[in-house]
Amino acid sequence: MAYKYDEENIFAKILRGEIPNDTILENDHALAFRDINPQRPHHVLVIPKGKFVSFDHFAKEASPTEIVGYIQAIGDVCDLLNLSIDTGDGYRLIANSGEHGVQEVPHLHVHILGGSSCGRMIQS
Ligand code: 5GP
Repeated sequence: MAYKYDEENIFAKILRGEIPNDTILENDHALAFRDINPQRPHHVLVIPKGKFVSFDHFAKEASPTEIVGYIQAIGDVCDLLNLSIDTGDGYRLIANSGEHGVQEVPHLHVHILGGSSCGRMIQS
């Protein structure tokens, strides 16, 4: 079954520059920006520039170069915001996918949450 990508999703519009965003960093393959409704002092979304719906879509169909660029951007955000467990207090990385993952925006994104404890992972 082929993955279907919605060109009108909000993150596609952000990538096309149609909607403003609070960019943290950018590289050739990824964009990182602050979540509009932050759940922690730091709440950053990291998205690939390619048209991928979910993490599994990305893992299967992205090129090695895209995968490296995306993962590097995640590490760079952790460094930039002093969230790395090397120098800081850590963070939570979340990738919601599909209906059961309760994914709101159908363009792959990871949430990086930090700046205070994220509590236990699953409440219900
Ligand atoms: P999901 O539930 O899909 O994993 O998370 C989507 C996230 O995108 C939510 O945390 C929501 O606050 C964020 N979001 C939705 N629309 C916008 C927007 O226009 N700009 C930004 N920066 N974040 C958004």
